[in-house]
Amino acid sequence: MGHRMIERVVRSPSSNTVKAIDEICNRCLGDNLKVNHNNVLYCEDCYNYQTVTSNHYLKRKPRSRIKRKHKLNLKFNLSKLQVLGENFIYNCYNLKESGFLHAVCGAGKTEMCLKTIYQALCNNESICFIIPRVEIIKQVYKRFIEYFPKTSICCLYQNQEFVESADIFLSTPHQLIKFYEEFDLMIIDEVDAYPFVNNKFLSRLINKSSKNLSTKIFISATLGESEEKLINTKKVKYFLIPSRYHNYDLVIPKFVKYSNVFSIKIITHIISYQKYKKRLMVFVPSISLLKKFHKYLNDNNINSRIISSKTKYKKLILKAYENDDFNILLTTTLLERGITFKKLNVFVIESDNRIFSKEVLVQISGRVGRDRNYPKGELIFFSRFKTKAMIEAKKVLKRMNKEKFDAM
Ligand SMILES: [Zn+2]
Repeated sequence: MGHRMIERVVRSPSSNTVKAIDEICNRCLGDNLKVNHNNVLYCEDCYNYQTVTSNHYLKRKPRSRIKRKHKLNLKFNLSKLQVLGENFIYNCYNLKESGFLHAVCGAGKTEMCLKTIYQALCNNESICFIIPRVEIIKQVYKRFIEYFPKTSICCLYQNQEFVESADIFLSTPHQLIKFYEEFDLMIIDEVDAYPFVNNKFLSRLINKSSKNLSTKIFISATLGESEEKLINTKKVKYFLIPSRYHNYDLVIPKFVKYSNVFSIKIITHIISYQKYKKRLMVFVPSISLLKKFHKYLNDNNINSRIISSKTKYKKLILKAYENDDFNILLTTTLLERGITFKKLNVFVIESDNRIFSKEVLVQISGRVGRDRNYPKGELIFFSRFKTKAMIEAKKVLKRMNKEKFDAM
């Protein structure tokens, strides 16, 4: 059955401990070791967690679990394409192989995993769904407690309580440090995005916390370089879902040129949104510009609110937005993915800014048209220049629409 353990740092050795640091750091499998002023080795890679030095030990013990009868409570049917994705994941799981599911934003990736998760629950296996963003963990948790009403689900981020006996963990990648060869099934969401990109530390944590014979499912809407490499070398199985659940095309961005951010072009566009109370999300490259732009709109009698990583009551603002208490929301790339609003239109201001990479622009574009009743929202990139990222993003979206057509 392999190891399946949780791990913590202790000061003295006993029967089930290993040295925390010998040739490498056994907690994060890194070899970036340094000597501190007491002449003790420590690991620089996992330094931000509880301290671990060559004087410490790692206590590994099987996690106490409770055998439960699980139930999958699905009140809707998956689309034909979603069933294909579902089968892909299920087959990977049965063959104990890793797979990469490439699906456009709004394809219903989480729902495609449910059948496999349920099977793993029934097999009494250990399951982790890894999601980098806390906001999205919260959203997924809400859905999961409905899908799996008899299952114990534990969210792991920041200082959330660690429920050792949970059946499913919804975790940020950083929290995987708690586990040692624990998981039979790992689903890793948004692998192409921050913080995964080129992060060897996190890939080591993923490897360390999964059992030798396990299934890893990577899901994402865009492919980064390292994913393309994995797929091209056939290290993982690959499957593309080029369509949304409602089968409408992805919305293609319109490029609009302006002389600068505070030009009349943008204002006239936004005024009509204010007038007809249509929902508009405006992406801005930085927090400082966010504030300036907000003031600029205010000065022009346009009512808007802002949300960024620095905003205190994010949840309340998002709730108010959802309830139509206001209709124009200004944000940074914080809301680039995962979050769904009905009837959404999107503007990207200064889309030629470096922060808007191809991947980010594809994700942002994916916010539009997710809703069956409003599949063709407006999507405009405002900029002075046309960047390679903008052109590539448009190409990717068009290609996905075409591949969908080919796949039908
Ligand atoms: Zn380490």
